[in-house]
Amino acid sequence: MNYLIRTFGCQMNQHDSQFVAAMLENRGFEKTETTEDADIIVINTCSVRESAENKILGYIDSLKRLKQQRPALTIAVIGCMVSQEKSVAAFLKKRRHVDIVLGTRSLALLPHYLDQKETKKGPLLAFDLDSDIPEGRSHLREEAFRAYLTIMYGCDNFCSYCIVPHVRGREKSREMADILKEAQDLVKDGVKEITLLGQNVNSYGKGLKEKASFADLLYALNDIEGLERIRYMTSHPKDFSDEIIEAIAASKKVCRHFHLPFQAGSDRILKAMNRHYSAAYYLTLMAKIKERFPFDVYTTDIIVGFPGETEEDFQETLDILAQVEFDNAYTFLYSPRKGTAAAKTADQVPDEVKKDRLTRLMDFQNGISLKKNLAMVGKEYLLLGEGTSKNNPESQSGRTDGNKLVHFKATDDQTGKLVKVVIEEAHTWSLNGRILK
Ligand code: SF4
Repeated sequence: MNYLIRTFGCQMNQHDSQFVAAMLENRGFEKTETTEDADIIVINTCSVRESAENKILGYIDSLKRLKQQRPALTIAVIGCMVSQEKSVAAFLKKRRHVDIVLGTRSLALLPHYLDQKETKKGPLLAFDLDSDIPEGRSHLREEAFRAYLTIMYGCDNFCSYCIVPHVRGREKSREMADILKEAQDLVKDGVKEITLLGQNVNSYGKGLKEKASFADLLYALNDIEGLERIRYMTSHPKDFSDEIIEAIAASKKVCRHFHLPFQAGSDRILKAMNRHYSAAYYLTLMAKIKERFPFDVYTTDIIVGFPGETEEDFQETLDILAQVEFDNAYTFLYSPRKGTAAAKTADQVPDEVKKDRLTRLMDFQNGISLKKNLAMVGKEYLLLGEGTSKNNPESQSGRTDGNKLVHFKATDDQTGKLVKVVIEEAHTWSLNGRILK
């Protein structure tokens, strides 16, 4: 029996798919890459943008024929797109070929539903966002040397553009002892780098039996012998406290990569986004971080074309880019998501205006990114090797502590090893380096 998983969306979804893969392999399924060979196809969905949703629906619909030809094939749709009762009803109306539907907090039911499938009529459904996620989940990692580790589920922030709290439920932190045990097990298994996952990791700790903060977690993880690097995503500027800054400064293994999404430079738009900070607060926070960590890497997320955004508002976004000089910015066109507050707003920005602003913003940022990368030429960095470079099979690649991608040539496989290089060439998105003996 073979399984195929198609994963759309963020790291959280990738990690959930690793959990699903582990459950299926425990039941004796083997991985396949082709739909024709699969006995079960799992589609892990993303609802962050409309374009992504349309692509996923197209893929699910394309499986209808296969199901008609092979009725024994199981099609399971899981994740964000099928985590709300209303959207599941509309989704299933047109898709009778789907056998199992599991929301983000109900994935552990998959083996149980596979047992029930032969005897129960109609699709098997579970999408309860109040469910507790069980401890002791195992994950089938694709890479031996690095792993994701979820520290919290859901989000309480309700940014007005974001669907996440509606499809992943309210914020729930895992007990610190459970996280540390999982981290220790990962390290025993050969993991050198752990990325802590959560929608808003900085607010980790709410409602725990044993009181702990994100800073406490960083200190404790830093003490794990054999662990080399700790990353985390995603941060929220309003919760990035002095306590966290001090914990990062004191914990050598926590990577000096500060990813702090500011989303918009206009206070009016930030308020409409329900972000709970102003542009001045954000700039003060970044100034504090840059003073404490002057040679490190700063990145951000920006949404262009939020409802009501004027050219003046957009210029304020460019002002923040100019003042902070981020190494990189992940930029997104605003996409209205049904069920969110911003989608109901009348003054949506026309698509062509959004696209024009995005192009200008990316051009501006690309110049800064290249300048920052050029400043790295001639300097030495420690990389964690990732294996053969995706664009050039003759080279290997690795990442600096600040998460910059560096290509280098080496005779031995450096995957999962710490490699010292000197940077010889800089591009906008990557660097070339030479190994130092
Ligand atoms: S913090 Fe805001 S943007 Fe991030 S997941 Fe929560 S609601 Fe969405």
